[in-house]
Parts: sequence; structure tokens; C-alpha cells
Amino acid sequence: MNILVLNCGSSTVKFQIINTSSELIKNDGERCLASGNLEKIGSQEALVTMKATGKEPYKDVRPLSDHREAINVVLNWIDSGESQIEGINSLADINAVGHRVLHGGERFVQSVIVDEDVMKGIDECAVWGPLHNPANLKGIQACRALLGEKVPQVAVFDTDFHHTMAPEAFMYGLPYECYEKHGIRRYGFHGTSHRYITQKFAEVMKKDVSEVNIISLHLGNGCSACAIRNGKCVDTSMGLTPLEGLLMGTRCGDLDASILCFLAEKDGLNFQELNTLINKKSGVLGVSGISSDMRDLENAAVNEGNKRAQLALDMFCMRVKKYVGAYLAEMNGTEAIVFTGGIGQNSNYVRERVCSNMEYLGIVLDKEKNNTLPRSTGGVISAPESKLLVTVLPTNEELMIARDTLRLTEK
Ligand code: AMP
Repeated sequence: MNILVLNCGSSTVKFQIINTSSELIKNDGERCLASGNLEKIGSQEALVTMKATGKEPYKDVRPLSDHREAINVVLNWIDSGESQIEGINSLADINAVGHRVLHGGERFVQSVIVDEDVMKGIDECAVWGPLHNPANLKGIQACRALLGEKVPQVAVFDTDFHHTMAPEAFMYGLPYECYEKHGIRRYGFHGTSHRYITQKFAEVMKKDVSEVNIISLHLGNGCSACAIRNGKCVDTSMGLTPLEGLLMGTRCGDLDASILCFLAEKDGLNFQELNTLINKKSGVLGVSGISSDMRDLENAAVNEGNKRAQLALDMFCMRVKKYVGAYLAEMNGTEAIVFTGGIGQNSNYVRERVCSNMEYLGIVLDKEKNNTLPRSTGGVISAPESKLLVTVLPTNEELMIARDTLRLTEK
């Protein structure tokens, strides 16, 4: 089966075409046949990059007014034959579409086949994901219009893995009416990644998913920690929106909420300006004043002695450490700490800083292994005497979406 996996952001469309061969599925044997990125949608100079695996990329700069037009470009490329995608000669070879949907609220606790009612539900959840849910919905509507209703579509929610949290983990210390009236609570995100890591860890350790007890650290542009007991999420660091918790590329993470009132009063910042400040101008970018990218910060701090870059790194690593400590207390210990995401998979510096001085909690890193672990491949990086296993596992959210799509549409 060939599945088109779509991730529609506010001005972007990312896609992969994944071939799910059922004999191979257990060993991550699914193959990515093609992938692409369409950026700056809504502008006269949208950037289009699409590539069949093993072939030269197709690149273009062109006007793209909306998501429908962008998806039309992808589908035309697939259909044209010029794409040279192995085993795909026309759109008829695309059997189903899987969509990443940001917010499923309390309604969507697992992936679902898209119908009218589901589309209405995604729209209703847009109140908590105002930038992403409408874009996700536009992607669904565009596929429906362009591929027809016969091609099934599946929605996979970034929030659904976290629905197993107990109220004491998901409620905020606000008046209870805020929850009843507006649904204000912790929902958590990166659920598809944490779910993949849980399954992958079970597979690697040759155990059942229900026996997995880990802290999963997804450290990328967005960062979140997830406490997983018996294969289920018991707590996670992101909240009502993906802002809360760890320090991120441009998001501030945990913050004394009174700071916003202070800034509104003292600097006269309005709602939009505050929103931009905490989501786009903060995090390691805001602290360092240099970049949101860990590679730039490591270079500036380690090679150039830049103090603010160093401060941003110190804050980033300390915040991760704090969550690890909190979750170890909450779960009464775990079997393993798993690093994933662009930073978790690639930055031996961050991994070492997070795991340093943690012997009291049973974490001892093998520095040699940590430093020599080939980039982007998984492996154990803890020392033999470490009570907790520390591992690196590359995440694959697209694969998880393809697997859910296969499971639901095969029926
Ligand atoms: P993601 O959002 O998971 O794609 O992660 C993207 C982030 O990973 C980038 O912004 C970088 O900060 C980080 N990253 C990627 N490669 C490296 C590397 N070799 N060393 C440190 N950080 C990296």
C-alpha cells in the first residue's frame, strides 16, 4: 500500500510517500518513496522541493496562493511520471492519505478515518490550535477535492498519546470553570513521536509495549519530555499549547504567567505582540540573540566563547534535567531515558550536559559511547554501572502516521 503522509503547517506543506509492506513493517521496513517540502505558501515566491528517493530533487519558486494549490502541485508531480517515484505511475497508485493534525482536544484519543463529523471536530479543536488545525483541515479538504472521496484519509493527532494522563497531571491550578468553560488543561504534543519511541523501545528491548517504563525526551525545534509508564503517558511537559515546558528554539517554555501581565502593563504589549514574544522571539534564540539552532549555539559557545550562547545552552540543559528529575520522582524511577529529535539524536554535547551529575538518580553516561555514536543512528550511551539505561532512538513520526493509516484503512 502507498500512503501519502501530509503535514500541513500555517504556510507549509511537508509530505512523504511511504510504501507499507506488511512483511517488512515489523522491522521499520516501510520505504519512503518520495518526500518534499513546500514553504511560504500564500506568497508569490513559494519554495517547492520534491524528491523521489535516490533521484535528483525537483525545485521551483512559484506563486502558491493556498494549501489546495500547494497540494495540487504535489499531486500533479506524482501524476506526471516525471517524478520517477518507484512503483508509482499515477495518482491511482496512492491508496490512502494520513494527516498530522495538531490538536485533538479531549475528543480525539486515537487516530480516526476522516469523515464530515471528524472534520467538524478538527475545526472545533482549532480554538486551541489556531494556526495549525485550520491548515490541517485545509490539507484534508484539498485531498478530498483533488483525489476524490474514494481515497480514504486518516487524521493522526499530536495530542492523542497523552489522553491517558490523570487529572492531577493535566489540570492547571486555575479556577475549575476555566476547564469546564474553555477546556483549559494540559493536552501535550509530539504524541506521535513519543508513541513511536515507546513502540520502538519495546521492539529493541524485546518486550511488550505495556512493559515500557521510560522518560522520552523529544528535543528538536520544539521540545517535550514525556513520562511513560506501562507504555502509556502519565505526564508530559507541553500544555494547552506547545509553548509550555522545556526551553525551545524560539518558545520560552515554563514561565511565571505574571510576566505577561507585567509586560502588558509596563511596555504596553498587546495580545498579539505577547504571543509573538513568547512563541517566536524567546527560547534559545531570545536568550542568545544569535540563533534558534543548537549547532550555531554550540559553535558560538564552545569555539567562540560567546557568553549568551553559553547561557542559552546552560538553561536549555538544566530545564531538561529538571524534568527528568521531576518525572523520576513522579514515576518512582524508570528503566530508561530516551533521547530523540534533531538535538536529542545529534547533540552529544546536550546529552552529556543533561546526564552529568545525575549519579544520585542512577544515571551514568559512557562519554566515549556518547561522543562516538554515529549521528542519527540509535544506541545505548549509558555506562554498564548506570542503574538507568540511557539511549538514543531516532524518531519517525511520518512512519507512525503511515502505520495508523494502514491499520485503519486496511479494515
Ligand atoms: P527537529 O525539529 O527534530 O528537526 O530538530 C531540528 C534541530 O535539531 C535544529 O534546529 C538543530 O538545533 C538541531 N540539530 C540538528 N543537527 C544537529 C547537530 N548535529 N548538533 C546539534 N544540534 C543539531
